[in-house]
Amino acid sequence: MTEIKFHKGFGPTYPVNKEEFTKHTRKKYPYAQKGEWYAYCPNCENPVKLLGLLRPLKKQRPHARHNKGDVEDINDFDESKYEWCPYHRKNADYVKEVKRGEETEEEIKIYNIMREHFDQVIYLLKKELPLYISDNRARILLKDYIAYRGWMFYGADCDNIPLMLLNAMSGIPVYGALIKNNSNLYKFLQNRKEITLIESNIKDYSKVTRSKNEYVNLDFVVINVRFRVDNNTTLHNYIHYNVGEPIESEDKNTTYNTLFEDEIEVAPYSFRKLSNSKKNLYRNRKMLEIASELMKPI
Ligand SMILES: [Zn+2]
Repeated sequence: MTEIKFHKGFGPTYPVNKEEFTKHTRKKYPYAQKGEWYAYCPNCENPVKLLGLLRPLKKQRPHARHNKGDVEDINDFDESKYEWCPYHRKNADYVKEVKRGEETEEEIKIYNIMREHFDQVIYLLKKELPLYISDNRARILLKDYIAYRGWMFYGADCDNIPLMLLNAMSGIPVYGALIKNNSNLYKFLQNRKEITLIESNIKDYSKVTRSKNEYVNLDFVVINVRFRVDNNTTLHNYIHYNVGEPIESEDKNTTYNTLFEDEIEVAPYSFRKLSNSKKNLYRNRKMLEIASELMKPI
């Protein structure tokens, strides 16, 4: 990994380099011990060893690697957290399977961060998604997340809270939705004769309307969110969405035929950075009211 942290919890992450390590730790115990330098994995909080700082690496840039053993006064090695860590799994989808039983302390923490930072979660998703999230849509997304108990997904952590909200979503009708101008989705819709995009009263978004005498129902859904760790050991996150149209069937149950799909890369740790920002940016009272109304304290 190329980002680490120096404390447990949802605090800031830092790049792996000598300057940051020295600035934050003064090269003192427990970060420096037994001739090695240590910190925490930002995702699973297992101890990590910093490589390429004390001795240059031949081929790779400095990075950190899970230390598969306890490091005194940093942390004990936790195998089960390591198993679900994206830096260990390297390339996979965030799963939608929910852990059974009562919430652990960590899952309660994820729940509470969603409750207290729902406004910033929605702000970030608005920035990333081509489809506008209205107040009402935000409420529906949160209801889906609660129905699935998204804080209990295997692999859920504090960083991927916005992605796990999308992992729980169900389809959204495209007609009447607002689409970000010049996004890939916008360009796809622009070429469909059944659709007319008109200017909306929200800056940089157009409204999807039906062209005269045309009827087709399009539906938007996030298919999955996934991650990939590249050769430089840097984490990348992706949102894969899809637009489909319903297929007629004899049994009257609706399934969808894919017409368009696209993937959006999301900067890792953007939610952590925003929620840690001392400037308290992008707070929205309406969103926080929705969260406290729908999410009872646990
Ligand atoms: Zn990890």
